Amino acid sequence: MSSQFPIQKLNEVETPFYYYNMQLLDDTLSVIQTEANKYNYHIHYAVKANANKRILERVNSFGFGADCVSGNEVTASLAAGFTNDKVVFAGVGKADKEIITGLENDIACFNVESIPELEVINEIAERMGKTANIALRINPNVKANTHKYITTGLEENKFGIYIWDIEKVLDKIEELNNVNFVGIHFHIGSQINDLDSFKQLCTRVNELQQDIFIKRRAIPKIVNVGGGLGIDYDNPDDNPMPDFEKFFAIFDEFLELQEGQEVHFELGRSVVCQCGTLMSKVLYVKEGVSTHFAIIDAGMSDLIRPALYQAYHKIENLTSTLEEDKYDVVGPICESSDCFGKAVTLPKTGRGDLMAIRSAGAYGEVMANQYNLRELPQAIYSDLI
Ligand SMILES: *Cc1c(COP(=O)(O)O)cnc(C)c1O
Repeated sequence: MSSQFPIQKLNEVETPFYYYNMQLLDDTLSVIQTEANKYNYHIHYAVKANANKRILERVNSFGFGADCVSGNEVTASLAAGFTNDKVVFAGVGKADKEIITGLENDIACFNVESIPELEVINEIAERMGKTANIALRINPNVKANTHKYITTGLEENKFGIYIWDIEKVLDKIEELNNVNFVGIHFHIGSQINDLDSFKQLCTRVNELQQDIFIKRRAIPKIVNVGGGLGIDYDNPDDNPMPDFEKFFAIFDEFLELQEGQEVHFELGRSVVCQCGTLMSKVLYVKEGVSTHFAIIDAGMSDLIRPALYQAYHKIENLTSTLEEDKYDVVGPICESSDCFGKAVTLPKTGRGDLMAIRSAGAYGEVMANQYNLRELPQAIYSDLI
């Protein structure tokens, strides 16, 4: 059982709700700041992980920027205090009005994923009398670790510009008057715990710099290596944050930079995941043929990750200390996939017990929806309770 929760106070709050440990968030931000500062690395927090205003404000207070994937995220970041020179806008499908939002606010950079997008940004910028800073999101194809660039079994995906198209894109940029090439951008995936993948990313970035950008003398000022650092869903108390020291050290060791280049990171999950917990109460315990079902008042509308990706979240009963048994922990929603865990070992569980679904600070509240016309979960903060 975790002792970190103020159980008595939490027991009085109407469930379900997200509980944020703001001290842990501060500690995490502080470690990131210290470790990133060692190398003058720039951090843009990936707002899509959790766009809660108080969390954005806290992230901003540590001097980090905001990495946005929609016009509304740009607006929310600015409203939370991020200055426009620290806001970047990524995403494969930016709508015209979202591009306009970015340009109106003179954001730092658009991460561009295709030639048609480049042309549209240029056209809108021209109309508005602006120049858009752009970085090219390149699909580095690092997992297929065979020959340089040409890989068998390449999985086509919608993200980024293929390596073999980069030259064409650079030619296009030279033709356009209202875009300014400032960076290259990579993001190899999410919940990555094998730091070797980041090593491979560095190698690929080095090759691309040598073979394309340096050769063309189109040296980007910014090398943005994205996010994706994973966290420990199994042991949130033992590992309340990932090893940021090791993470940044990999890039310091393996990334070869050109004079004056800045390295940018877009961390999402690793910043906010462990500080958030979905709190819920047991409504009923129902006896199946061979299964005890703990039916709780949180559902997939509050936290969709288990239903959407079969994601694992550690589940704890915070109020029972009775002998253990196994339970399927399920929500109230009319979908079989509304299940948080099967055969979960818990102390004997009954109606009214307070349940903690851990490591839910990232891609949790922000994905909550009103399916079944349920209410959205509220947010409770450790420093305000
Ligand atoms: C989602 C995303 C991130 C953040 O990923 P995490 O795994 O949460 O760190 C960063 N960059 C891009 C482009 C993304 O799509």
